[in-house]
Amino acid sequence: MTTICWFRQDLRVTDNPALAWAASRGQVIPLYILEPGEASVTLGGASLAWLEASLAKLNDSLDGALCVVEGHPESVLAQVIRDTGATAVTWNRRYEPLAIETDKETMATLKASGVEVQSFKAGLLWEPWVSVKKDGTPYRVFTPFCKNALAQLPTPEAPIPRPSALNLARTESTVVEASSLGLADRRPWVQRMLKYWVPGEAGAMTRLNAFIDQGLEDYKRGRDFPALEAVSRLSPHIHFGEISPRQIWHAMQTRVEGDANKEHFLRELIWREFSYHLLYHFPTLPTENLQTHFDGFPWMTSSESLAAWQRGMTGYPIVDAGMRELWATGYMHNRVRMIVGSFLVKNLLLDWRLGERWFWDCLVDADQANNSASWQWVAGCGADAAPYFRIFNPVTQGEKFDPQGGYTRRWLPELAQLPDAYLYKPWECPPIVLSDAGVVLGDTYPHPIVELKPSRERALAAYQAMKDHRSVHSAEG
Ligand SMILES: Cc1cc2nc3c(=O)[nH]c(=O)nc-3n(C[C@H](O)[C@H](O)[C@H](O)COP(=O)(O)OP(=O)(O)OC[C@H]3O[C@@H](n4cnc5c(N)ncnc54)[C@H](O)[C@@H]3O)c2cc1C
Repeated sequence: MTTICWFRQDLRVTDNPALAWAASRGQVIPLYILEPGEASVTLGGASLAWLEASLAKLNDSLDGALCVVEGHPESVLAQVIRDTGATAVTWNRRYEPLAIETDKETMATLKASGVEVQSFKAGLLWEPWVSVKKDGTPYRVFTPFCKNALAQLPTPEAPIPRPSALNLARTESTVVEASSLGLADRRPWVQRMLKYWVPGEAGAMTRLNAFIDQGLEDYKRGRDFPALEAVSRLSPHIHFGEISPRQIWHAMQTRVEGDANKEHFLRELIWREFSYHLLYHFPTLPTENLQTHFDGFPWMTSSESLAAWQRGMTGYPIVDAGMRELWATGYMHNRVRMIVGSFLVKNLLLDWRLGERWFWDCLVDADQANNSASWQWVAGCGADAAPYFRIFNPVTQGEKFDPQGGYTRRWLPELAQLPDAYLYKPWECPPIVLSDAGVVLGDTYPHPIVELKPSRERALAAYQAMKDHRSVHSAEG
């Protein structure tokens, strides 16, 4: 019996239930379909670079048998079935609204033509529909969601091993080399960015082990300090399914003695589950305010401010360091993501969707659920969001979370010689000190593009105007 195993966001051979099922039935055709935008989310530049590298690794694990085809899933699958005589198709489920639609339609078409179809849970600890409140409605607040998951939902299943024997079939007529699809931009930035990473299943496992051995012991405190190696940097591996959340969960349970760091780390994995829960129940999360009264928010338009933010040229060092880290590595530390996000939507008063788009294109871990839920959280319009009036001050955030400036100096070498006291407010630095540090404001490093106090007041006024607008409307209604 020949079964097509359709790989998507599960680019691994261990703990892959679809692959295990296919292998148990006989011959397996491993397939990856590069889908057009209307069938799944269109990937950003950094993600495409990662995908290409990850597919190459998966292909190696499958002895070169991975078939990569560009096209609409239904027609690609029909063609591969015709070419190979496969009688079944299997996949691990995905949860983005467009992907759910595509998978439902594909399943119906295949079944109607007599092909057996089997799908599995592999990318989440719990299906997003299993945890709902007592009244049957979805959770909108993280803490009860998390409590319920830990107390009521089954312990995540143990990971399943790589199939002991894989009888892989090749489909020469349809094979395209991942590299010849031209997925990744060929410009030098891709090579530079990928130097920070080892995409693929083995790279993911190495990173998990390194984190358990070295970073986890200080996770709870250290995860807020971007200069420390205290976070796992597993996010792109998790997004592409090179490692499963239950592999991580069980590695933590079996290898780490019960402690606060482990609990805190598992809580972050549950934040990811919460994002998927929100995206599943509120499929417009990537584009529409979850709190609809934000629809009337008076966002500004300024391509200059947006470009300065994107390029890391705002004149606020912790913001610029984060944006440069993102550009160079495809990643940004979580604390800094929150700071740059707050700066965009509050100090610059630009729509959170502009930030979401830029992150989407630049992040190697760009993930529709996490990215949109997090941007809505930062903007104050999401479920359980940071209140809009809580506005991060980029000077005090820098001083508090990067006090020795190790992170900021790394990404802003032009400020490396500034003393700590002025690192986050170079505009207050005496000219002689600036000059000794080789800094010429407006030349080697920009003047601030907005002033903090007035931009904060402007944001609060905009928020108040939105609230007033809402109360007038509800009074009229
Ligand atoms: C504006 C903004 C945009 C974001 N966009 C994304 C995105 O596109 N993709 C993405 O994976 N994460 C996103 N995050 C969440 C978080 O910043 C990253 O998951 C985290 O920084 C990844 O680094 P890590 O793997 O070292 O995290 P660790 O601290 O080591 O955490 C382990 C894992 O837990 C999950 N996790 C951690 N924090 C969060 C969180 N706040 N929300 C949801 N899951 C979390 C991730 O899967 C992460 O890999 C965003 C956060 C903000 C504020």
